[in-house]
Amino acid sequence: MDADAIEEHVDMIRAVGIDDNDEQEDDGFDDYDDDEDEDPVTLGFVEKPKNQWSLLRQYFPSKAGGVPAWLDPLNIPSGKTSLCDICGDPLKFLLQVYAPIEKDSTFHRMLFVFMCPSMKCLLRDQHEQWKRQPEKPSRSVKVFRCQLPRINPFYSSERPEYDGSHKPASSGAALCDWCGTWKGDKLCSSCRQVHYCSEKHQAVSWRSGHKTACKQLKISSPGSGSTSLVSQKVGSSNMWPEFEIIIEDESEYNIETSEDNTLANSSILKSRVDDSMNSLMDSFQGDDDKRSWANFQERIAKAPEQVLRYYRNTNAKPIWPVSSGRPSKADIPNCCYCGGPLCCEFQILPQLLYYFGVDNEVDSLDWTTIVVYTCEASCEAGLAYKDEYAWVQLYSPPATLQ
Ligand SMILES: [Zn+2]
Ligand SMILES: [Zn+2]
Ligand SMILES: [Zn+2]
Ligand SMILES: [Zn+2]
Repeated sequence: MDADAIEEHVDMIRAVGIDDNDEQEDDGFDDYDDDEDEDPVTLGFVEKPKNQWSLLRQYFPSKAGGVPAWLDPLNIPSGKTSLCDICGDPLKFLLQVYAPIEKDSTFHRMLFVFMCPSMKCLLRDQHEQWKRQPEKPSRSVKVFRCQLPRINPFYSSERPEYDGSHKPASSGAALCDWCGTWKGDKLCSSCRQVHYCSEKHQAVSWRSGHKTACKQLKISSPGSGSTSLVSQKVGSSNMWPEFEIIIEDESEYNIETSEDNTLANSSILKSRVDDSMNSLMDSFQGDDDKRSWANFQERIAKAPEQVLRYYRNTNAKPIWPVSSGRPSKADIPNCCYCGGPLCCEFQILPQLLYYFGVDNEVDSLDWTTIVVYTCEASCEAGLAYKDEYAWVQLYSPPATLQ
């Protein structure tokens, strides 16, 4: 496949990957002072999809909320991998980013971020995060990388017609009927027609109506007209609202910030970031935090609705809203498969929580940013879904660290 064709393909599915130049001089750990010659950053925005089919896995979507569009639909992470290591509940799908790299093995490449919606777990996750490279990390935020060559068992090697008629080349594993996210390895022992990923989801589903549906399913002969009942099962209250992630270049927004385009006028930041931050501004001890916050505000003011900033293969760096709670180079582990270095691939901004309708209460899920680091080589070894690394920065780092 020549470069043009790849470009076309990548374009068509609105992937975030930028040109794959070899200079990888940035390590993402330098000072946060604005670099004059910084490469443009790709920004992600959430939108309700115009066509629901565009979020299906055969169209390689970048999306937030709802259920994941698994790239490899068979070898989905299962067992402990799919659980919050702290409370043991199945993790919730946050977002996925389609970011192919021009190599045979990474013709398709998708990054998935999951997290436990409990702020209690995220606070404990912080302590784990600051333990440098523990033997067995115990996390409430997990990132998986999945990649496929152009010729693979799951998808056609030709570009799909972008009209909703395209079907994947093979079907995937049965998924949990409650979360629609993880493998449904467990069957309801009574009707034997409904799948669950965990006892937890079986229990919630039972309480939320399967108790009644189960009886009806038992009466209807298996394999016959049960689809209408089955289709009602996925517990949408269990998911964050679903959006498509739209990609745009930050340079598109490089116009002087005008009076009526200021951060203060952004309802999103007003309700999300400002509330949390302004109450904290008074308590900021050092000038560093104030400087970081000012820098962060200035950068995102160009496009205040951005939820994602994509960096791989650029010399741009993540922006840290607060100066405390940033990792140093030694805090980021090496790839647990090839041992090579990780690089900063993207960061997720707190604006996403606004779109997800997460309350701004004391115990609500909240973060200043989640920065995702991935294997620089995007190595092949290991599982279909490889663990990558997330660094979560909170508004107030754990007291023990100050
Ligand atoms: Zn948890
Ligand atoms: Zn489930
Ligand atoms: Zn049942
Ligand atoms: Zn690696």
